Amino acid sequence: MNEFEIIDRYFAVDSGKRKDVLKGIGDDCALLKVPRGQRLAVSMDTLISGVHFLPETNAADVAHKAVAVNLSDLSAAGAEPAWITLSMTLPEYNEDWLESFHIGLKRIVNFFGVQVVGGDTCRGPLSITIQAHGFVPETVFHTRSGAQPGQLICVTGPIGDAALGLKVAQNELQVPPNVASQLLKKYFTPYPKIAAGIALRGRASAVIDISDGLLADVFHISESSNVGALLRWDKIPLSAAAQTIDDKILLKKAVLSGGDDYELCFTVNEDDLEATRHALETVGNECIPIGRLTGKSGVKILDNKQEMTFDELGYTHF
Ligand code: ADP
Ligand code: MG
Repeated sequence: MNEFEIIDRYFAVDSGKRKDVLKGIGDDCALLKVPRGQRLAVSMDTLISGVHFLPETNAADVAHKAVAVNLSDLSAAGAEPAWITLSMTLPEYNEDWLESFHIGLKRIVNFFGVQVVGGDTCRGPLSITIQAHGFVPETVFHTRSGAQPGQLICVTGPIGDAALGLKVAQNELQVPPNVASQLLKKYFTPYPKIAAGIALRGRASAVIDISDGLLADVFHISESSNVGALLRWDKIPLSAAAQTIDDKILLKKAVLSGGDDYELCFTVNEDDLEATRHALETVGNECIPIGRLTGKSGVKILDNKQEMTFDELGYTHF
């Protein structure tokens, strides 16, 4: 198969041909139409084999995750996803791998109604770069920098499952099969919180998606907004699966510093909490306060009134 046949067969996923795609794959550029009154939100993420995913991961899950992590950045911005571009670096032509990748790609782009509008294909060590494009109304933009002292810090759902799932995948955590399957699912096939991001428009003062780890991501908000954060360990929601983990040190590490959950963390005025909870519940999400912003700097977390100490906030590459 030559390069163009590969593109056509595996990456040109037809997701119902969006009307705002005037020209998609097959020309030098895609030509796209942003609706009147909306702005374009753009984000890019790379997944490298052996760095961002285990090399033996099935290709459908790789495709899923590559799209999911990008759409998750859009969700933090409160954007509605529209298009993606896809840069593939492949070590070889591997029909089974590509077929599986194609299935995973098709499933997730159809689920979110986004269209692959272009990309690039090269030979080299396996890596996938996606750029995601979405729309936000001109009047709305979530950033990490709008948080104010006194506001509540909330999350949209349980934290830590993905990091525990990674431990299970690496055989570093032994759990019963039903627990394992729940944790693995959260790690391999996260669903970005698009509807939650949209529901938070005009309500949250700062939003971030939890990708690096809860503490690291709260730290990003606190730094960007020039405020401090005080979290309560007992308020952080854990899934039923996570609650079965006996090794509490491993559990705390996964919840506080493990990444890849793709829940949203946001800040909101206490007076707006109930309305925000209602807006999130309407779209099937939770609204769980886990702490409060302070006038001091830095992120602190209390466990039974004792300040917890930790040596690493989350994942960084350098
Ligand atoms: P050019 O030589 O003009 O850069 P390419 O040969 O890289 O064009 O790509 C041909 C067409 O296929 C372009 O429309 C490009 O956007 C699209 N394309 C290339 N690789 C991919 C990919 N991995 N996924 C989706 N579209 C792709
Ligand atoms: Mg090219």
